Amino acid sequence: MILVSGKEVSSRVQDEIAIEVEKLKANGGKIPHLAAVLVGEDGASRTYVNAKVKACERVGFGSTLVKLDSDISEADLLAEIDKLNNDNDIDGFIVQLPLPKHINEQKVTEAIAPEKDVDGFHPVSLGKMVLDLPSFLPATPAGIIEMLRHYNIPTEGKHCVVIGRSHIVGSPMSILMARNTYPGNCTVTLTHSRTRNLTEICASADILIVAIGKPEFVTADMVKEGATVIDVGIHRIEDSSKKSGFRLLGDVKFDEVAPKCAFISPVPGGVGPMTIASLLKNTLLAVRLK
Ligand code: NAP
Repeated sequence: MILVSGKEVSSRVQDEIAIEVEKLKANGGKIPHLAAVLVGEDGASRTYVNAKVKACERVGFGSTLVKLDSDISEADLLAEIDKLNNDNDIDGFIVQLPLPKHINEQKVTEAIAPEKDVDGFHPVSLGKMVLDLPSFLPATPAGIIEMLRHYNIPTEGKHCVVIGRSHIVGSPMSILMARNTYPGNCTVTLTHSRTRNLTEICASADILIVAIGKPEFVTADMVKEGATVIDVGIHRIEDSSKKSGFRLLGDVKFDEVAPKCAFISPVPGGVGPMTIASLLKNTLLAVRLK
């Protein structure tokens, strides 16, 4: 079994980006600048945003954190987004999800200027992805593609099963795995809560990508011997024995699934760090496309 370390691949990608930034600086070019909008005080969201800001510092990007109260009105949030859209120094920005219930996430996503949509969630970005046009790929699926490439995991002609059809992970992932390129050229099955015989379908997968959002949902009986398993899930489980007060679990029961796998990504240290690497790559792309 080979551990697919997103931590390692992300670190390599970030080193490459840092070199690009140095080159831009040396040539008097624009230093990439990423902004993140954080609404409210959700602990997990704060951790993710801080990690993104820290990664910007590591590669030499400029970064701005826009912190807003959880009771901000939708109109005021849209006004903040408009400011970022019109700020020439900001090359790309993200609005950390989830947003408070009184705010329409789709409206917010669509308010982001497509040329600054480094999370790749805007309909323009997703439409271009479907048409194989250059665009910002959604950060998490793009990070998984990068991991598969880094480990030379064979994909052509393989059966790839994706669990979950969210707009930010499962659906775009299924499209990328079916594209006529490497990594891709898979025969893809996209599964969801109405899927029948999920265990049998998963057990026939050469590549199983799990984005269901349920801790340790995937068990050994759902995995074929020699499969590649990519675990997107991330859950904070209270644990008083830890300094932080919690431990992280994925959507896959790692201990029993790992021995059956040719490749498996862990949680933490798997897909999470790759999402950040993709975000930085998209920000660099935003500068290049300007
Ligand atoms: P989501 O929007 O909650 O979607 C979950 C999907 O799972 C839905 O499509 C749902 O089907 C499906 N599902 C639920 N129960 C099922 C069942 N019993 N059988 C089969 N399918 C079922 O989740 P998400 O935003 O894609 O996130 C998934 C997980 O990844 C979460 O743990 C999240 O925290 C994590 N995540 C991690 C990163 C990272 O960077 N590591 C990034 C994004 C998300 P329906 O559509 O029918 O409801």
